[in-house]
Amino acid sequence: MMIKPVYLDYNATTPMDPRVLEAMLPYFSEEFGNSVSAAHSYGWVAEKAVKKAREQVASLLNCDPHEIFFTAGATESNNWAIRGLIDQLRSEDSTPLHFISSPLEHSSVLSALRAAEQRKDIAVSWCASNTSGALDINNLERMLKTKSQLMSFMWVNNEIGSINPIQALGELAQSQQCYLHSDATQAIGKVVVDLKKAPVELLSFSGHKIYGPKGAGVLFVRGKNPKVRIKPLLFGGGHEGGQRSGTLNVPAIVGLGLACEIVQKEFSQETQKLQALRNQLWGQIQSQFPTARLNGPQIDSRAINSLNITFCGYLVPPSFAEIAISRGSACHSGAASASPVLKGIGLSDGDADKTLRISWGRWTTPEDIEKAVSVLKKTLRPLQAVPNDNSLRN
Ligand code: PMP
Repeated sequence: MMIKPVYLDYNATTPMDPRVLEAMLPYFSEEFGNSVSAAHSYGWVAEKAVKKAREQVASLLNCDPHEIFFTAGATESNNWAIRGLIDQLRSEDSTPLHFISSPLEHSSVLSALRAAEQRKDIAVSWCASNTSGALDINNLERMLKTKSQLMSFMWVNNEIGSINPIQALGELAQSQQCYLHSDATQAIGKVVVDLKKAPVELLSFSGHKIYGPKGAGVLFVRGKNPKVRIKPLLFGGGHEGGQRSGTLNVPAIVGLGLACEIVQKEFSQETQKLQALRNQLWGQIQSQFPTARLNGPQIDSRAINSLNITFCGYLVPPSFAEIAISRGSACHSGAASASPVLKGIGLSDGDADKTLRISWGRWTTPEDIEKAVSVLKKTLRPLQAVPNDNSLRN
């Protein structure tokens, strides 16, 4: 029987929690109703399930259920936050718009903002980060002096595990009547996200990063203090209060709701466990690979479930058979080059090629970490031991 590779790519996606799957199953079969079928009990059952899920999400985020909108994932939520705000502001007046973001954002934010930048009436300022991924707040303050409508900064970075100072960013934004949107896809379940305290007006995340289903996500839109208005991205039957049309994916929404409830209930035990695995992994990497370099923040001030490591002096293969981890470089038009995040913190293409992202989660054990380190030890070859072209020809 083939042994499954140890899964250490939880930042890419998580396995679904069996409790979530079980809760979803009836909504594919006997409880298949459309949540807006108001004239019969099939619809009422579906509507009740969606209502419960909305409450579960709102409870985790400490916000009002009316502020929760279900989407097809963080990509849609990020696009909607940015493009919906643009459409809303454009419907009010035609003054030029100014947004601020960072080159380290997820591509769904970057691409939406780059598309916006093509318009004559929108300017985007890109705030640089230092080599550990922290934003240059002084630079940001200077950028914000002009009249700005939106800052978009992710809560936790998916590649290097840096954590943005969301409280400070939100307070800075509010001091200039600017909104803060945060992509919290990698933050949920790893840091406390409390929307009564955090001055965030728009927030996005996806179900499949928290042991829920793929293709399901959330956009939080603050309902008061301040009341945020954005235009819909999808028009049609008027679902989600007219804000997001399209028949609701009830099974996925049920799963997403329960995934949030489990995160909330198990947060402290789970975060302790993830943190212990992080310390174990970094300790073992350091002892087996003394030249390894941690990218992003120091070990104690970074995300608790991922490490991004450059294996200096080693040749890193393009893929691994026994462990599932992620490469630090992405292929653009056929040529391997550093991801914008690694470039943004100053890595060369050569260093990115020796870089791996390892991320773990609910079902990772200390034995999995040990196995991963031993696989790395046997697979990564010291560069001086790699035969050069001449020796191959001889
Ligand atoms: N933002 C971040 C930080 C992510 O890690 C991801 C998923 N890689 C997304 C947005 C997009 O999520 P989805 O593909 O589920 O829409």
